[in-house]
Amino acid sequence: MLYANTFAYSKLHANEKFKKGNTNLASKIPLSGVPVSGLEKLLTPLPKYRAKQIFAWINSGISSFELMSNLPRSLRAELDKRFCLRKTSLVSTVEDPVSGAIKLKIGIEGGFIEVVALVDAAGRRTACLSTQLGCGMGCVFCKTGSLGFTRDLDGSEIIEQFYHIQALYPDIANIVFMGMGEPLLNLSGLRQAISVLCETLSPRRITVSTCGITAGINSLADDGPAVRLALSLTSARETLRQKLMPVSAANPLAALKEALLRHQKRHGRRLTLEAVLLGAINTGAEDAAAIAAFSQNLDVVVNLIPWNPVENLYFNGMPLKEPSSAELRRFCAELERHGLKTVMRREKGRGIAGACGQLGGTSAGL
Ligand code: SAH
Ligand code: SF4
Repeated sequence: MLYANTFAYSKLHANEKFKKGNTNLASKIPLSGVPVSGLEKLLTPLPKYRAKQIFAWINSGISSFELMSNLPRSLRAELDKRFCLRKTSLVSTVEDPVSGAIKLKIGIEGGFIEVVALVDAAGRRTACLSTQLGCGMGCVFCKTGSLGFTRDLDGSEIIEQFYHIQALYPDIANIVFMGMGEPLLNLSGLRQAISVLCETLSPRRITVSTCGITAGINSLADDGPAVRLALSLTSARETLRQKLMPVSAANPLAALKEALLRHQKRHGRRLTLEAVLLGAINTGAEDAAAIAAFSQNLDVVVNLIPWNPVENLYFNGMPLKEPSSAELRRFCAELERHGLKTVMRREKGRGIAGACGQLGGTSAGL
């Protein structure tokens, strides 16, 4: 069942103590999105070790109190009366037979979101989570962008994406916030989900990708959490970037660079610059030179992402196209000539429309 109210954890543990009475279903509180310390308070007067046990079960991806086999039956029944484990539901899954990537369709209040678990050559799984239903940033090359913005996801809706994946693959090694939406425009939901993830995962295993929200980067620099940061740069030529990514009009490159320097100074982590490569648009020698100039004084690796095709996306009246392999090779070599480290991102998940920028919920099979 889905709940109308956004889960507000701080209010919740002040008002909703674990006490007898109040068995009304509509008032059931989702326990996802609550860190161990919050569970301890919420479940008072249960002993603290119970909160840890319950957290471990939730984190393993189980969806029913009945399965919490190390809790007394009476307690399981009592919990079930007052709380629920999920406010979202798994609708379907589809696997890409070529890459092993899996895409999950998850029902939330007012719509669906898609979540992808990618697998690398060494068999490590990375979960790609969404933070908003749709996205309002309007990047011309992105399917999610073409959908427009509906709403922010709350902390429970974000962390539950991880739990749905955990239930299928209990060995998720890394988390990237590169699904639907702009994470730094939903800082409260993002921070809540990260605080729960960090109960079991190092922040080094979590990457937040942003289209370049300067205020959000500054907020992460000043107040944390100290997760890895990826900036979707795509072009370091101001005019071209503004045309491709309208967000950059209000977040110019100079201000972005200041924010990145501040983040790096504070957290000391290597930054990823993502560049979606669009055939014949941003792959010339001058584009490489601009990225090199932008990267001066920053510790970066450039992640090159050949554009994943999405129908009906245009730039200057022409349909967008993938870069040719010769174009990719030239661009990569040009960046390396400027002394930049580069990584070419394999097009994982393409077969199930689960690759970067293809999330949007209209693909075949879901
Ligand atoms: N809103 C955030 C995170 C989600 S988008 C951001 O923009 O960073 C995740 C990544 O997918 C971004 O780097 C984005 O530039 C890239 N992307 C978007 N559409 C794409 C497409 N069609 N092909 C390849 N990458 C794409
Ligand atoms: Fe939004 Fe990121 Fe897509 Fe741009 S690339 S429209 S910011 S999801």
